Amino acid sequence: MSTINQSGWKPEMGSAGETGPATYTGNKALMLEEALIFEIGTTGTTGVDLADAPKVTPRLGNLARHRDIGLPGLSEPETVRHYTRLSRQNYAIDLGFFPLGSCTMKHNPRLNEKVARMEGFADVHPLQHVETVQGALAVINELAVWLIKLTGMHGVAMTPKAGAHGELCGILAIKAALEARGDPRSVILVPESAHGTNPATAAFAGYAVENIPATSEGRVDLAALKARLGPDVAGVMITNPNTCGLFERDMKAISDAVHAAGGYVYCDGANFNAIVGRVRPGDLGIDAMHINLHKTFSTPHGGGGPGSGPVVLSEALSPYGPIPFTECHADGHYTLVEEETANERHPHSFGRMTAFHGQMGMFTRALSYIMSHGADGLRQVAEDAVLNANYILRSLEDVLDAPFAHSGPCMHEALFSDNGLAEGFSTLDIAKGLIDEGYHPMTVYFPLVVHGAMLTEPTETESKATLDQFIGAMRSVVQRAKAGDPMLKSAPHHAPRRRLDETQAARKPVLVWREPEQAVAAG
Ligand SMILES: *Cc1c(COP(=O)(O)O)cnc(C)c1O
Repeated sequence: MSTINQSGWKPEMGSAGETGPATYTGNKALMLEEALIFEIGTTGTTGVDLADAPKVTPRLGNLARHRDIGLPGLSEPETVRHYTRLSRQNYAIDLGFFPLGSCTMKHNPRLNEKVARMEGFADVHPLQHVETVQGALAVINELAVWLIKLTGMHGVAMTPKAGAHGELCGILAIKAALEARGDPRSVILVPESAHGTNPATAAFAGYAVENIPATSEGRVDLAALKARLGPDVAGVMITNPNTCGLFERDMKAISDAVHAAGGYVYCDGANFNAIVGRVRPGDLGIDAMHINLHKTFSTPHGGGGPGSGPVVLSEALSPYGPIPFTECHADGHYTLVEEETANERHPHSFGRMTAFHGQMGMFTRALSYIMSHGADGLRQVAEDAVLNANYILRSLEDVLDAPFAHSGPCMHEALFSDNGLAEGFSTLDIAKGLIDEGYHPMTVYFPLVVHGAMLTEPTETESKATLDQFIGAMRSVVQRAKAGDPMLKSAPHHAPRRRLDETQAARKPVLVWREPEQAVAAG
């Protein structure tokens, strides 16, 4: 290993010539270099002083670890600086435009945060007596009523903690309904453009997954779907609007056909942002649909969570939904339907998705978002999101292949392919070029039905000026990819790190920097 100074700088880190002379530290004014903690920490340094643990005989015997784990340590201020420096190299929705398709990365209004931090909401505990949490239950119930109204459905399960968790909830309700009528079935049909969570959910719930092909328009092939329906098909999972950014116009016909064959219809509602206030899934014959509060209803979803994925249910499936849930009585008083009460009040429930009542902080945020927009405001959200996506689609289709541009207006996201780039150039080069331009790349290589897919979702919260700048950057990067600019092939040049070997990083992650210096015999 080469020499490392205190801040972890190595001579090869400097990038002389690109943005000015190399600096001694590797820092460029406020662009601070930071090495890995494995490179700057030592096993001898620690931020805390703890007395040595008393020696004990491990009860695990030979299974107990007999040597140091060799984790590098830093002092307290070094630790704070290390993570603060790393955090400044992150991209965030509060820093810039986030065109990730299928994710609905919209602005998180500060009002939501203010409301979620009110003591009565922030400090509530799931084990408090029900009489002391009437306000929290009112929030859950009020949000539930909005979700039912917006979707035109019969009931809603509030507890699932993300979209994928909601899918599992919906599929378990379908399974319970089929079993209750003595007709367990074995197959779930999923279109080829489906999000990976759909087939994963169906498989996790014990179903065999079969693909339904798409038409050349990018929509579900209704004839192929009808041909496959039969007594073994438990249901279908259809994303609407779908992951090609298109509205499934045949949704009602699909639902009718599935119902006629005795199955149920699950709708992946992650893209509800495009149709909220305009289309009610209940009118399309859907039996269960999850809603990602962290997408459509603006609760934050950076850094892996927390998400929240309530599932709206049809009248046919509602009896099978999970407990616990809140009940509002005529006098405005709330109670909870839990195991003890479920037997008489909700005897067909498939059980429980979570220990408690779901993501309270997300409920508060989503409800403040919904109430501050009102019904008309939510409708405008959908209209503006769709307008923005079509603006991007039509502003780029002359330079970038848009395989479904002929299928009519897109919904909330615009889909492009890598068709027409110079020999040897791909979607990955465009994504890396966008990093140099200061953008988080769009979703790449998904959906799989399009070669080198670039799925771009602007959301309604971006201004025309922001979209114009992004479109300009895209046109520039695409033109470089078409001209075969070798500098693009090695982008990013201005990011804290150059192009990484992503396969190597995923397949052979280096999680330990070195062997522990000495083995410590235990016991
Ligand atoms: C985001 C998304 C999901 C999964 O939702 P999570 O909250 O990430 O679990 C499922 N389907 C589609 C189409 C999505 O965009």
